[in-house]
Amino acid sequence: MSKTNASGTILQTALWNVQQTARRLGLDENTARQITEPAERIQSRVHPLMPDGRMLHAQVFVVRHNDVLGPAKGGIRMTAGVDLDEVTGLAMEMTWKTSLIGVPFGGGKAGIRIDPAHLQPVEKEILVRAFTRGVRRHLGPEIYVPAPDMGTNERDMGHIRDCISYSSGTSIPVGCFVTGKPVVLGGVVGRREATGRGVVATIAAACDRLNLRMAGLRVAVQGFGNVGSVAALAIAERGARVIAVSDVGGATFYKDGLDVRRLVEHVQATGGVNGFAGGEDISREAVLEVECDVLIPAAGGSAITEENAGRVRAKVIAEGANAPLTPPADEILNGRDTFIIPDILCNAGGVFVSYLEYTQETQRDQMTRDEVERRLSERMQTTFEQVYERAQRMHETMRHAAMDIAVSRVADGILARGLLP
Ligand code: NAD
Repeated sequence: MSKTNASGTILQTALWNVQQTARRLGLDENTARQITEPAERIQSRVHPLMPDGRMLHAQVFVVRHNDVLGPAKGGIRMTAGVDLDEVTGLAMEMTWKTSLIGVPFGGGKAGIRIDPAHLQPVEKEILVRAFTRGVRRHLGPEIYVPAPDMGTNERDMGHIRDCISYSSGTSIPVGCFVTGKPVVLGGVVGRREATGRGVVATIAAACDRLNLRMAGLRVAVQGFGNVGSVAALAIAERGARVIAVSDVGGATFYKDGLDVRRLVEHVQATGGVNGFAGGEDISREAVLEVECDVLIPAAGGSAITEENAGRVRAKVIAEGANAPLTPPADEILNGRDTFIIPDILCNAGGVFVSYLEYTQETQRDQMTRDEVERRLSERMQTTFEQVYERAQRMHETMRHAAMDIAVSRVADGILARGLLP
């Protein structure tokens, strides 16, 4: 058995996963290098002038990891700590995610190194437009198509689209430059909810296979942003009990199940889950360790490490976040037969619906919510089954099976394209 030696950054975890997969699949050295090394890593900076006369200075990053199967796809992360390595690791994960979920995209990601919590709306708009102009040559329907990620949202995507059409002097750009836009600007209905609802679709598929009933299932959720809050609402709709929820400021717990809709209202009113009248405040860390059937880590990367993995008591971990488990934590939990739905499968609903938005915009089509939800739920379920079938047949974990399928497809794409220019 291979020894675990990746210590925990998102890039280290991503590299570890792909190197292990290349070894399992017996890929030759040239192919292994082609699937591992990023196609392009851009680090730049923008200095937009704010309305009060201050100048903001922000480092920005764009990484196209691999575009063998199509244009690079992946969100823009705006946080105080994001750096080129984090964006590279996330871009690599996007290559496997788009491949696994079967959409004609590659993997990419962008970053803007600033804490958006300290920006007024108009300041953020100016920054997002400066970012768009600064990296314009790296954006495009056939190059890299961004979407929201931590710290960015559909409003920001609307500003990116406007900035691009403004620069060409047209009402709209030709083709899809960005997904996750407001519906009024050609966004697809249900994109905002897609990742969280997709997470729940994979949990439902896992419950079928593991003979667990959705009704009464005890669920803990780390992170109550876009992914965590939608997943919590969607799983509660199916009769599960969401017993613990955390966000960056604290956590709340109620053993019989929190009223998730009221919790959303509480967060809208107060800015955090702490102090919710329908639950008791507990520590953020405790949410990962409560006794439950399903744990949904839906905050940042490396939330579960060698240090706390031994205290996680969930039967199923559904990776709503990207890379929430470090490789040593993964090994500890696998050793205890925890059923892990890996990130590239579990949270791929967002990029699948982004693909629907891309096709809708390219064809000037309009999709209904029912159509989007039906296609999302079908794709999540069939992909879960493909991964589960391989995991059973090859006696491997769900993560290994998912990576094997995803990486094989990219390797096949490299061969199919051929070697000549
Ligand atoms: P978000 O910014 O909307 O929400 C993040 C949430 O995590 C917030 O509630 C924040 O308070 C909370 N949080 C931060 N640090 C925490 C901590 N230490 N403990 C507990 N909670 C903490 O982000 P999001 O869009 O929901 O994304 C969450 C994760 O899902 C990220 O890893 C992202 O890369 C991944 N993801 C998002 C999408 C998408 O469509 N939004 C798609 C795929 C993967």
